Amino acid sequence: MSTLVMKFGGTSVGNAAAFLQVEEIISQQARDWDQVVAVVSAMSGVTDELTRGVVSAVSGDAETYHAVCNMLRERHTDIVNRLVRKADTRERLISAIDAQIDEYSSLCSSVHVLGEFTPRVMDSVVARGERLSARILAALLHQEGTRSEAVEATDLIVTDATFQNAVPIAQATRNRISARLVPLLAEGVLPVVAGFIAATQDGLTTTLGRGGSDYTAAIMGDALDADSVWIFTDVDGVMTADPRIVPDARVIPVISYTEVGELAYFGAKVLHPRTIRPVIERGIPLWVKNTFAPQTTGTRIVRNSTNTHGTVKAVTVINDLSMITVAGRGMIGVPGIAGRTFSAVARQGTSVLMISQSSSEQSICFVIPTTSAGAVVYTLEEEMASELARRDIDRIWAIDDIVIVTAIGAGMRGTPGISARIFGALGQAGINVIAIAQGSSECSISLAVDAAAAAAAVHQIHKEVIL
Ligand code: ADP
Ligand code: ASP
Ligand code: MG
Repeated sequence: MSTLVMKFGGTSVGNAAAFLQVEEIISQQARDWDQVVAVVSAMSGVTDELTRGVVSAVSGDAETYHAVCNMLRERHTDIVNRLVRKADTRERLISAIDAQIDEYSSLCSSVHVLGEFTPRVMDSVVARGERLSARILAALLHQEGTRSEAVEATDLIVTDATFQNAVPIAQATRNRISARLVPLLAEGVLPVVAGFIAATQDGLTTTLGRGGSDYTAAIMGDALDADSVWIFTDVDGVMTADPRIVPDARVIPVISYTEVGELAYFGAKVLHPRTIRPVIERGIPLWVKNTFAPQTTGTRIVRNSTNTHGTVKAVTVINDLSMITVAGRGMIGVPGIAGRTFSAVARQGTSVLMISQSSSEQSICFVIPTTSAGAVVYTLEEEMASELARRDIDRIWAIDDIVIVTAIGAGMRGTPGISARIFGALGQAGINVIAIAQGSSECSISLAVDAAAAAAAVHQIHKEVIL
């Protein structure tokens, strides 16, 4: 019995033509495999729009969410009108769209009145895009002759109550999948599961974090003991750089789980790393493929990097960052400054992307998202008030418009001279490196550079160190 799980991301169902393409891929694989499960994301941009509408509503804006409702209603209805031939199916889908959007609108109106929302409310707000795309896709498959049914992900994936970033409960989820999905598959039905969405034991809607549809696919693959999991997106696989920045980026044929994790952490969110772990641990073959070029091989993700080729495989960039510096001559030899600095930042709820301390101990620098910079400086000034008063610490400040450029590859471990080549490449282009850090896995080297030099830095590293 062969089982395939296929996941289609937002851009793979971004418009009518894309939906048709997805339908064709699924129908074709349905002929070759005994059992196929499709997982689908919301149409591209929909989760962002749902979020934008509710965030504007809570901050007192009574207009924006109405515009969002109109736009989302129109976008989904238009797809249905273009693609669905039978009038009764069309009507059924359009009333599902209306119901989801009307509910969204009243939730926005409530938070507008209340002036606040909780993560729990937020999950019930954003978990709509996937419901709609799953229904449309199932109807389309059915129309083209594949027996298919949209299955509520809230009936399949049981999580804890960490709203917005819920953690699946493995055994409970397995039980639900056995009870609900396995019988459908046995009847020859092809289930279409809404990605990203899940529910607590009590049935409250949760979500698996942004980009979480990959997680849904991995959970299905794991629970069904699938023979393969294919993640379809809008590029040819995991690439040597974001093709939107580097047009001549190439597909990486094989990459390890750790490397993909590092890639995602440092800005290339082509795959959600935490999420694919169940599949990797089980040794289920995992591929990233292009919806719009399904005949190309794509990228195979493997457990170990031993059988992958290349030293530096990819270069990534994270934008919109700030570098915080805590500096002062009196810091030398004062124990615990670094510890207190990072504890204070953690208490404030900000995660640090990169740390670098100069050997003279006169300063500590670290990089965080710019959105948190003001709050972090304030928290640190409070934490270090007495050191600042005594002038042991002279100043705590933020430099904005920073990016982190990272070179990634397991082969860097034990290959001397990689950093020299990276610095050489940047030097040639006159790019100033503000700070450096090497990942503890020795699988990456990160450089903080000025935002104005970001694209040039990525191009230089790609040209000199990867290609
Ligand atoms: P999906 O909607 O299919 O989940 P995502 O937007 O999450 O797609 O991820 C795919 C996008 O990731 C691509 O369109 C690409 O621009 C971007 N990306 C960034 N870095 C890389 C990389 N190194 N390899 C492939 N894609 C990358
Ligand atoms: N739609 C969700 C998001 O945009 C989940 C996903 O696409 O994987 O984050
Ligand atoms: Mg994604």
